[in-house]
Amino acid sequence: MEAAVKWKIKEKSTATIALAGNPNSGKTTLFNAITGAHQHVGNYPGITVDRKEGTINLKDTTVKLIDLPGTYSLSAYSQEELVARNFLTDEKPDIVVDIVDATMLERHLYLAIQFIELGIPVVLALNMMDDVRKQNLTIDTEKLSQLLKCPVVETIARSGKGKKELLDTAVSHVKDENREPTPLEISYGTELDLILDDMTKIIQEYHFMTDRYPARWIALKYLENDSQIIRLGRLNNKISKKLEGIVDRTKQHCMKTMKVPPEAIIADYRYGLINSILKQNIVVQEKTRQERIDFTAKLDRVLVHRFGGPILMVAVLYAMFQITFSLGEVPMGWLESIFGWIASTATALIPEGMLQSLAVSGIIDGVGGVMGFVPLIAIMFLMISFLEDSGYMARVAYMLDRVLRIFGLHGYSAMPFIISGGIAGGCAVPGVMATRTLRSPKEKLATLLTAPFMPCGAKLPVFLLLIAAFFTEYKAQMMFSITLFAWVMALLVAKLVRTTVIKGESTPFIMELPPYRLPTLRGVFIHTWERTWQYIKKAGTVILAVSILLWAAMTFPGLPEEQTNQFEIERQAAFTTIQSPAEREQILTDINNLEGQTALRHSLAGKVGTLLEPFSQLAGFDWRTNIALVGGFAAKEVIVSTFGTAYSLGDVDPEDAGTLSSRIAADPTWNKFTALAMIVFVLLYAPCVVTVVTMAKESSWRWAIFATAFNTTLGFGMAVAIYQVGTKLFT
Ligand code: GDP
Ligand code: MG
Repeated sequence: MEAAVKWKIKEKSTATIALAGNPNSGKTTLFNAITGAHQHVGNYPGITVDRKEGTINLKDTTVKLIDLPGTYSLSAYSQEELVARNFLTDEKPDIVVDIVDATMLERHLYLAIQFIELGIPVVLALNMMDDVRKQNLTIDTEKLSQLLKCPVVETIARSGKGKKELLDTAVSHVKDENREPTPLEISYGTELDLILDDMTKIIQEYHFMTDRYPARWIALKYLENDSQIIRLGRLNNKISKKLEGIVDRTKQHCMKTMKVPPEAIIADYRYGLINSILKQNIVVQEKTRQERIDFTAKLDRVLVHRFGGPILMVAVLYAMFQITFSLGEVPMGWLESIFGWIASTATALIPEGMLQSLAVSGIIDGVGGVMGFVPLIAIMFLMISFLEDSGYMARVAYMLDRVLRIFGLHGYSAMPFIISGGIAGGCAVPGVMATRTLRSPKEKLATLLTAPFMPCGAKLPVFLLLIAAFFTEYKAQMMFSITLFAWVMALLVAKLVRTTVIKGESTPFIMELPPYRLPTLRGVFIHTWERTWQYIKKAGTVILAVSILLWAAMTFPGLPEEQTNQFEIERQAAFTTIQSPAEREQILTDINNLEGQTALRHSLAGKVGTLLEPFSQLAGFDWRTNIALVGGFAAKEVIVSTFGTAYSLGDVDPEDAGTLSSRIAADPTWNKFTALAMIVFVLLYAPCVVTVVTMAKESSWRWAIFATAFNTTLGFGMAVAIYQVGTKLFT
């Protein structure tokens, strides 16, 4: 027990790590890889004669690394073993990193078991993982770690792979207050266990070296005939007589009944334990390469079948988005209530006025609107990562390549389109970033310029709003047509730019279709997290800034004083003249709404909207639509919430825009064709700011600005055509 206490580490910024292991397990190689030293490495046992030390500075820890001589065991058979053992017990390193040759687990775990028996905190390094892979083997490190109750890390000392993870694991294990270096008590069979118990009692009674070793371990060493322990024991006559007497009797008994000395029995039991651990499918023979190739070929006969393949692809992708939306609803609701709670708390805490308006309408609602999409994005990325890691996305690209090629694009363009919302509900920011997979710069550019046409998740609420207002009977058909229209436009524009401004040969689609694999949970989660975090970070920072700007544009300059006074007088009049409370309430709301609208029209944004009206009327857009569309440049979600403000309904929840849609439907300035023109314009016009910045980063500012101008012109042209032709022909 005392030993265990001493090994527990207080909070300190240095850690002593001892590298131990069988000879030839790669200790010195690993030591050199970590410290950058050049100790002699030899492919034969016993090369490390005395111990080497090195120091490395990690972020907040100085690590002292000691390369111990290689040992097969912790008995006292050889000089090396004693050096290693004495170092461990006398100098008490914070942790022992036991390097094992993973291709010879059974033999090498023998030493590991003894460390654990001695109650030393151990991290296991499975070295030579490259050789393991070459043999088509995999090792279930997680299970091994559970069974041995110590962290296990895979390494390839020769290339340095895994050394950082190993160090981090060791250091964090040192700092882990809860790690319990309780010595492992292996059963050595009923007979020996009873004898060990008796001896342990005697050792504890006399406190014989219990400050250095666990009592049962000392007893075990006696049975193993450990010369060092026996010699130390003889310094105390009484105890040595008692213990050696027991050992002698046991030895005779063992020789008589089993024809082997106790140490052999002990070794047998240790190997028995190791085997019982290894039997639990720790080392798994992977399907051989050929088997995997056969399996892949069989699966591909179905999955990329000329006719069946594309149908299946549409089904898979459709299912993916279906799942995304149905799963995402719940956490989206949570986030909504969280942001709602934050907003109401802020409203309660901050006194009414500019500051409150900025915090609630500007910051919380603005950023919250974007953050609200995080669950959807995360779930979608989770599924896309799964499809990618499994090898299926490569097939999707392969199948779409036939179509994309006609329009000067490439099979690899498929992913950016899909991520941007090609099936509905993506985001052009990761979509544009996904164009990195395209090797030809021209094809990359063409993809990057057209991906933002896709119906991303932020455009969806706008479509839903307008469909609810004007096309209630054709909801599904409208959504389908919008998606199809987006693809047609993207492909046509791609063809246009590829035959004009970025002319050039198309590159062949050489894609080695990877074998199908079951993705690892860890890999999928890491991918998902990385992408989601990027979305949060990028969108979060830009949206915050834009929300504040937009809020300011819609707030300043306030109404002139005489107008504010005028509204106040009207309110007073309502108070004094109208008796019925309900009626008074209604009138007051109307006055407030009117004041809000007048203030909005008077604001900077309102003035811009009004200024644009002569042009925008060509497509049927009035000044309020203009503000919303200008705001939508910041983020497309802003269109709906701006409409809400502009139509005096305050904040509109994009999900249940029912009331807003009926307001819009009832507004005489709107009709079906205005709505269609608006849908087409929102689909095509300038990508949002975050996308434009991302496009600039992926290509250049010139192209990003080109896209902004070109897309807006194209969108407006189409909107005007639809509105003009529609209203002339059908009304
Ligand atoms: P030590 O006796 O434990 O210090 O082992 P060494 O560091 O001297 O390495 C023994 C041999 O194994 C050398 O030939 C190394 O190049 C080789 N070796 C070490 N680590 C690896 C590894 O991760 N993979 C492979 N394939 N060989 C390794
Ligand atoms: Mg060595």
